[in-house]
Amino acid sequence: MNSKGESKIGKLVVVSGPSGVGKSTICRELVKRLDAWLSVSATTRQKSEQETDGVDYYFISKEEFLSQVDEGDFLEWANVFGNLYGTPRSKIEERLTAGRTVILEIDVQGGKQVQDIFPNAVMIFVMPPSPEALAKRITGRGRDDEKVVKRRLAQAQEEMNAAWRLYGHIVVNENLEDAIEEVVDIINKSGDAK
Ligand code: ADP
Ligand code: 5GP
Repeated sequence: MNSKGESKIGKLVVVSGPSGVGKSTICRELVKRLDAWLSVSATTRQKSEQETDGVDYYFISKEEFLSQVDEGDFLEWANVFGNLYGTPRSKIEERLTAGRTVILEIDVQGGKQVQDIFPNAVMIFVMPPSPEALAKRITGRGRDDEKVVKRRLAQAQEEMNAAWRLYGHIVVNENLEDAIEEVVDIINKSGDAK
């Protein structure tokens, strides 16, 4: 509650950027430094060995995903690289009403849907310092085969082209610590979600 007796609504932050640019690494730090709540998405993508169900994603079948779409369970959802990804709606409003900063790590299609619902959402797009650096990070993560790496790099260019129109903040992740500090600063200086 503030001095006028109004309860404080939290900030809603969308973090997007090409695969492998460092979004997860940055978002994990936001959770620590801002006591933010990071939404866990549902996906129909195969779980990799490094990932944990319920922590990195809720890994569900396509049938289950589409049934949740019909139920209106997702705030937004999109088809990315042929797999479905969605943000479970239920906890977002609850956390925002409790005054928490909520982070959504989602793609540009999802970012657009969220911005339509929450025009005050803080829109941050993370860019790589160069295409070569991005390729190195995707390969270094060791999660994808060569074909998937190529597809992710082609998709990255399209996402970066679309980002300029939609995202109020562009952060280049060259030095990780600098990028995290820049994102923290953007969030601290922005207003609440509604
Ligand atoms: P995303 O979530 O965008 O797909 P990740 O956070 O998984 O990307 O990062 C991909 C890889 O790049 C990880 O191995 C991570 O440690 C590394 N990485 C992140 N930021 C930097 C940086 N500024 N410089 C070098 N490597 C980085
Ligand atoms: P990955 O398979 O590399 O984990 O994620 C692929 C892409 O899907 C990334 O751009 C990531 O931001 C996006 N993504 C993850 N979760 C969601 C979600 O809930 N909704 C949308 N629209 N995109 C998501």
